[in-house]
Amino acid sequence: MTTVYLGLGTNLGDRELNLRRATDEIERRIGKVTSLSSFYETAPWGFRSEHAFLNAALAVQTDLTPGEVLVRTQAIERELGRRSKSVGGVYSDRPIDIDILLYGDRLLTTDTLTLPHPGIAERLFVLRPLAEIAGEVTHPVLGVTIGELLRRAEAATDPLR
Ligand code: AMP
Repeated sequence: MTTVYLGLGTNLGDRELNLRRATDEIERRIGKVTSLSSFYETAPWGFRSEHAFLNAALAVQTDLTPGEVLVRTQAIERELGRRSKSVGGVYSDRPIDIDILLYGDRLLTTDTLTLPHPGIAERLFVLRPLAEIAGEVTHPVLGVTIGELLRRAEAATDPLR
């Protein structure tokens, strides 16, 4: 059994409902959800949109492999209405986006999956919810806790801190 941390984001439709439905489907298809962060309102990142995001992170206990988790999170994204993947690194509005942030302390690089997720350290919208439920967890590549990564990212965006 492995503890997997997932990052959730939504900026279309009933965003709270999207997060709750995604959490329910994750519990049904991937494993027991043992913690769920608060929902954080954040500005769109990497593209322009008038629709703000609601972001969250959760921990799920699973016996599935990383590849199986990805297949299932992508099926949930599709079923909750996401029409297309980002193309060439260009982001877009989406009813639900699910990223695999950490899969235990596993490191993995394949054509479809990079673990830990490479965007964790510089994205406050990932770090804030993740630190709430996994502040003491050590990032397996960077060797510091998620809480420490959040402190560093916040200091980097606010030089007066
Ligand atoms: P996006 O459309 O921004 O959600 O990007 C999804 C793409 O990123 C998918 O094609 C995945 O195969 C790939 N990917 C690589 N690493 C991860 C990860 N840790 N979690 C989720 N998707 C990933």
